[in-house]
Amino acid sequence: MIKDIATPVRTKEIMAKHGLTFKKSLGQNFLIDPNILRNITSHAGLTKETATIEIGPGIGALTEHLARTSGKVVAFEIDQRLLPVLKDTLSPYDNVEVIHSDILKADVGEVIAQEFAGYEDIMVVANLPYYVTTPIILKLLLEKLPIRGLVVMLQKEVAERITANPGTKAYGSLSIVIQYYTKAEMVMTVPKSVFMPQPNVDSAVIRMTRREVPPVAVVNEDFFFEVTRASFAQRRKTLLNNLQAQLPNGKAKKEQVLLALETAGIDSGRRGETLSLKEFGRLADALYPEFG
Ligand code: SAM
Repeated sequence: MIKDIATPVRTKEIMAKHGLTFKKSLGQNFLIDPNILRNITSHAGLTKETATIEIGPGIGALTEHLARTSGKVVAFEIDQRLLPVLKDTLSPYDNVEVIHSDILKADVGEVIAQEFAGYEDIMVVANLPYYVTTPIILKLLLEKLPIRGLVVMLQKEVAERITANPGTKAYGSLSIVIQYYTKAEMVMTVPKSVFMPQPNVDSAVIRMTRREVPPVAVVNEDFFFEVTRASFAQRRKTLLNNLQAQLPNGKAKKEQVLLALETAGIDSGRRGETLSLKEFGRLADALYPEFG
């Protein structure tokens, strides 16, 4: 039986053996509780038919659980110091490939094509570096990769924003872009005590399952996202005020903005945070001929 990496004793041993220190600037808070890791992997629905992408393997705590439960794992790690460590800690597993790269600069589509030939089920599973959570998730979704979904640990506050419903404080353009591409749900909240060192913020795990068909059909996706961002530009302002201030030449085109709101059946005095995805879709399509 192979000993888990994710225990306080083993983590300290590995760090000491390789003369390593935690780099706060790279979001290095390693998991030291095997139960949490088992929970994360179970929420991802992995089988030996699944190929898994991990971002930031650290010293391999989550990676080894992924190697045990999926067919193949490719892990992207930015910190060169961790490469020899991972070679050592993951030596019992022959189905793991570590790529030394910043995930934000990596051609993930190309890596999938090269490394995952024959796999139809691809998942992303990660304990994300918190300083860069949102850009990583958005990159993986906007590149429209052939993945079933993502199960990721992140700051609880960001998890709340991603999974928020209309009419709540946490609801905003991040909720909309992610809920447009995926069905997003919070599956676990996680105490600080399962990390070494402990982070300053609370954590949660969310599952984002990619949608085959978007929840709302729009004429132009980019413009739809532009309208949602414009609608939340100043949360206390009404839709009419935000749209006028943000849309090209909006100040001079009050009548056209009002007409679009009316066409979409949306009261101009409402605030962006009260609109559902479907309402944003209708609004974007009504604005598109004049402002798109
Ligand atoms: N997976 C390990 C665990 O759960 O114990 C480590 C998770 S730790 C929160 C985040 C990891 O992401 C670190 O290993 C860090 O070096 C790595 N990392 C930070 N920024 C990255 C980036 N832009 N691309 C790839 N890896 C990154």
